[in-house]
Amino acid sequence: MSEVRRLEARGAPSLQPPVKRITILGSTGSIGQSALAVVDAHRDRLEVVGLAAGENADLFAAQVEQYRPRVAAMATGAAIDRLKQIGGPADVVFGGTGRDGLVAVASHPDVDLVLCASSGTEALEAVLAAIASGKTIALANKEVLVMAGGIVTEAAARHGVVILPVDSEHNAIHQCLHGRTRAEIARLVLTASGGPFRGRSASDLVGVTAEDALKHPTWRMGRKITIDSATLMNKGLEVIEAHWLFGARADQIDVVIHPQSIVHSMVELTDGSLIAQLGVTDMRLPIQYAFSYPERWRAPLPTLDLTAAGRLEFETPDTRAFPCLRLAYRALEAARSLPVVLNAANEVAVARFLEGRIGFTAIPLVIERTMAAYRPGAVATLAEVRAVDRWARERAEETVDELQSKV
Ligand code: NDP
Ligand code: MG
Repeated sequence: MSEVRRLEARGAPSLQPPVKRITILGSTGSIGQSALAVVDAHRDRLEVVGLAAGENADLFAAQVEQYRPRVAAMATGAAIDRLKQIGGPADVVFGGTGRDGLVAVASHPDVDLVLCASSGTEALEAVLAAIASGKTIALANKEVLVMAGGIVTEAAARHGVVILPVDSEHNAIHQCLHGRTRAEIARLVLTASGGPFRGRSASDLVGVTAEDALKHPTWRMGRKITIDSATLMNKGLEVIEAHWLFGARADQIDVVIHPQSIVHSMVELTDGSLIAQLGVTDMRLPIQYAFSYPERWRAPLPTLDLTAAGRLEFETPDTRAFPCLRLAYRALEAARSLPVVLNAANEVAVARFLEGRIGFTAIPLVIERTMAAYRPGAVATLAEVRAVDRWARERAEETVDELQSKV
């Protein structure tokens, strides 16, 4: 028996570091799988209590078998049926399907921390339920904050819950802000890779295909966020995300194109000093930061070799060729409800682009026309947010139909 165990056996307080019990929403996705790799590297500090996925029953069955969560959920009953046919463990407890399933997994009493890494906005209620139950939130999903940033951050403040950003830029800013007071901060600077079409003019973008747009130069991610990176809407959503996470106004948040994706973001202090966070391009790093916070753990990743990187370049974004970034600023400046419209219209436009129904340059058109058709009002409740979201999706679908009929 080790000396530590001998002391514990005699009633001394435990000297073993505490284990964090986590839930992962979206465990079968790009972030979800990276999060489970972080769990594998720190089995002594992390325990998977809850897992939720959408439709990928094959991968989810393997995850449930390996991590034996106390509660699980999938998007639909059909997905759970497929999982059972595959022959996953018979004793797995399902918390439900759809939003209810996500809520059950996120608010399970044994959970300390919830990683929200599902795509879309289905997990909004689950994030709010987790906050109400006092769980720490590790947030990869940005759509939830764009849609309901006021509601989510007010609930977090009311319940004394910490929201730890996993999105690499916001994670970088979180690190740069350590030990700073609000009075010291002049500006947040988000870096953007520029995506696969960096340097192209608006006319060069006509006719690019989904296959071209899915070839991201530096990050491997899910399909929707990869298209958002190609249109620069990803950065637009991140500007709104930064507003809610750090309380910065639109005019205090800048975007700079940095093709190497090594400087993950920066904070400018009032004296003009820029504090930056640099690191390898691997989402396991910000995920581990959120899981370990306020501690820091060793990461089984290569460290950054700046001499191998060679050059770090920075450019101004071209919002003529990539109007989505401008639209996001406009939504943030206008009112609380316009970002709901922006986000919903973007989800519709990206889905229809991936189906080949509209072209790449029609994505900002769909969003702009949907925003133009909307009269911004206050959205104080979740029901109001969902109603605006539904309206915007329907309006965006109509715009897609109009654009298609002209082709
Ligand atoms: P993926 O498309 O790779 O994964 C999405 C995940 O969400 C999958 O597990 C999917 O399940 C699950 N999901 C989708 N709909 C539902 C639903 N209704 N109920 C439960 N689960 C659902 O996306 P990413 O991992 O790339 O991105 C996830 C989120 O993280 C996004 O909001 C993105 O913006 C954000 N993000 C991602 C980054 C990245 O590097 N990938 C970086 C920064 C932020 P299934 O596959 O089983 O259907
Ligand atoms: Mg990001």
